[in-house]
Amino acid sequence: MITITDISKWYGSFQVLADCTTAVEKGEVVVVCGPSGSGKSTLIKCVNGLEPVQKGSINVEGIEVTDKSTNLTKLRARIGMVFQHFELYPHMSVRENLCLAQEKVLRRSRDEANAKAEALIDRVGLLPHIEKHPGQLSGGQQQRVAISRALAMDPIAMLFDEPTSALDPEMINEVLDVMVELAQDGMTMMVVTHEMGFARKVADRVVFMDDGRIVEDRVTDQFFDHPESERAQDFLGKIL
Ligand code: ATP
Ligand code: MG
Repeated sequence: MITITDISKWYGSFQVLADCTTAVEKGEVVVVCGPSGSGKSTLIKCVNGLEPVQKGSINVEGIEVTDKSTNLTKLRARIGMVFQHFELYPHMSVRENLCLAQEKVLRRSRDEANAKAEALIDRVGLLPHIEKHPGQLSGGQQQRVAISRALAMDPIAMLFDEPTSALDPEMINEVLDVMVELAQDGMTMMVVTHEMGFARKVADRVVFMDDGRIVEDRVTDQFFDHPESERAQDFLGKIL
């Protein structure tokens, strides 16, 4: 589904990614972790072409992301992305947030878009709030809306970049629960997170990054029980 082959990236003379290779199969959940500044956000942004790479290739479902002739707008419409800050349209209701791209990009009718919006918002327990604006919701509620908005586009895969790290502790679980359900439904997911409980529970593999490199790419239990590198051992020692 997502194949990352030997990519390297520089910001000016600073190398942010070095020879990264990994893959996410259909239905697989891969957690990406590692110290601050190791390149996790950059890696995930490269997958849907938000950041270009200077070397290597990325392929998503046969679409060559790193090929200059690829229509990135079309690709991004098929990959859901959820960031740390919810990035909902503040001047629109929850309903409008979920309907806009369905109507503009997928050309769904208003009725069809509404039905989809209501079903998805109901699933995350927010139907009573559907006419509210994001500013009237808690952080955890906004993040559940952001996930629902991405799902309204029927994405082939979902990318998450620390979706719970800006939330108050009591709201983290309500967002993780939605993500766990999504994973169990078979969604293909690449998730940057420090929530190791989530990783243990649903990740098929863990990719550990340090200094722009993928240092470990292992089956989840093996990563936690027998991290190979000293850097991963250090990292786990600090956060577990
Ligand atoms: P964090 O855990 O803090 O989110 P990260 O692993 O996501 O970190 P990135 O945001 O990918 O790390 O950044 C990797 C490195 O690239 C960092 O040293 C960062 O300062 C640098 N970097 C990121 N974006 C840019 C940019 N636009 N221009 C120059 N350097 C950048
Ligand atoms: Mg980051």
